[in-house]
Amino acid sequence: MFFSFDGIDGSGKSTQMSRFVAWLEQQGHDVVVCRDPGSTPLGESLRELLLHRHELALSARAEMHVYMAARAQLVDEVIRPALEAGRTVVSDRYLLANVVYQGHAGGIEPAEVWRIGRFTVGGVLPDVNIVLDVPPETAAERLRRDETREPDRMERRGEEFCRQLRAGYLAEAAADPRHVVLVDATRGVEEIEADVRRVAQRVIDSAAEVRGT
Ligand code: ADP
Repeated sequence: MFFSFDGIDGSGKSTQMSRFVAWLEQQGHDVVVCRDPGSTPLGESLRELLLHRHELALSARAEMHVYMAARAQLVDEVIRPALEAGRTVVSDRYLLANVVYQGHAGGIEPAEVWRIGRFTVGGVLPDVNIVLDVPPETAAERLRRDETREPDRMERRGEEFCRQLRAGYLAEAAADPRHVVLVDATRGVEEIEADVRRVAQRVIDSAAEVRGT
């Protein structure tokens, strides 16, 4: 099984992912955690370039392809082997983020990002993308409280960009509600966590049904 977490920065992704992984492990899943971009030597180098090399000009299309390159390596080196070994993969972001950031908010036709993305990942897509949904003001407020954070390339783009991101996630959830599920992440950590588990449980149950167990 393959789960990905998505949402704008400050939506609570890291908080929810670590709780979710602990829950899966308690249930006996053998979990592989990764982040996209990242989790391979190439992917981590590209992540550094994408998020922190502010002096490098990066057009929207170039940026999209760098994300794709990192993801291709992540699939080949980490995700596909893990799935083939029967392990459960949990990824911090995946193709959906590329569609929303460089597509909906970045000006590239989202359908094109999906098309290139499907080729890039060779059919390896999450069973469900769990999107933590918060208004940009709430996310910004949470990040302001967290003084240890340095704004990265994405976070520097401001609140208007975040509004476009949110609209992008909403549009993708409306277009494919089975695979893109929004969770109201304005609430307390435990309430959000309970909803995340409910969403995941549906996937776990239907995988068990397919296996006939
Ligand atoms: P992300 O990974 O999406 O950027 P984090 O999990 O790092 O988000 O959370 C960003 C900040 O918001 C952290 O300081 C975290 O403690 C806080 N936070 C996370 N979830 C909630 C929540 N449900 N309510 C209030 N604050 C939260």
